[in-house]
Amino acid sequence: MQRLHTIAAWRDYAQRQRDAGHSVGLVPTMGALHAGHASLFDEAKARGDVVLATIFVNPRQFGDIADLRAYPHTPEVDLRLAQEHGVDCLVEPALEEMWPEYPRPTATTVSVRGISEVLEGAGRPGHFDGVASVVAKLFAVTGPCRAYFGDKDFQQIAVVRQMVADLALPVEVVGCPIVRDYDGLALSSRNLLLTETARHQALSLSRALHQVGETRRYASAMRRAMRAVMEDAGVRVAYADVVDPVTFMPTRDDEGGARRALVAGVVGGVRLIDNGPVVVEPRRD
Ligand code: AMP
Repeated sequence: MQRLHTIAAWRDYAQRQRDAGHSVGLVPTMGALHAGHASLFDEAKARGDVVLATIFVNPRQFGDIADLRAYPHTPEVDLRLAQEHGVDCLVEPALEEMWPEYPRPTATTVSVRGISEVLEGAGRPGHFDGVASVVAKLFAVTGPCRAYFGDKDFQQIAVVRQMVADLALPVEVVGCPIVRDYDGLALSSRNLLLTETARHQALSLSRALHQVGETRRYASAMRRAMRAVMEDAGVRVAYADVVDPVTFMPTRDDEGGARRALVAGVVGGVRLIDNGPVVVEPRRD
């Protein structure tokens, strides 16, 4: 496995792979790697790509400096996991390499209107501008590629897809299923920050989604049901919503069909998200 740290070497590596006739599979991460990240490496490998993974904790997508400071780092695990799952090139750029002017903001920001402004975007102002800006830069350096993202961050994929479409970027975005722990908890680097009690409470997110995924109800009945499950477990609910999976417009009670349920909450000081498919029934009364 190659390890690179500069934009120049990384751009050159990706170009050489394409020149040799290979397709490049980009897997952007923030490190503290787990089986969810590994599933993206595996998918890229399965499609025959040369796998280029990046590890960069992007400060511009953290509104809260304490959240950024607390973000877990597990460099030895990261290296081993990347090697074991066939990553060909691991890119770990320094902050000065990615954002030389940080903490001053860059003059250019990529901002995706609409989708970025609801749910995660409403609760974390500027978050998706930080995500879109860094992902645009990762795409610009890597060049034509397939890029793998997890459904765990469902709204993030929608933002990235919109950006790719609007700017005609030479990138095929591939969404991959959520990897869960044995008990249903969606794997997340932030799970490392949970106490045993908090981890138990955190299970209410996947439980709430599972419950509404199994039933047919109108949208606001689903919202209420999910909120109740999470609140009963002691979670401070940020949102529990049912939306159109492409536009992220909230689902009205007179609508029926396939939608996405998304939840977010704070558990023991840690903010967690999860989501899953639902089928809503139109309200009849
Ligand atoms: P992160 O390091 O948290 O920025 O995540 C990097 C990529 O891994 C993103 O595309 C995430 O959606 C994806 N990812 C994180 N957790 C999971 C999971 N449990 N299952 C599938 N993909 C995940």
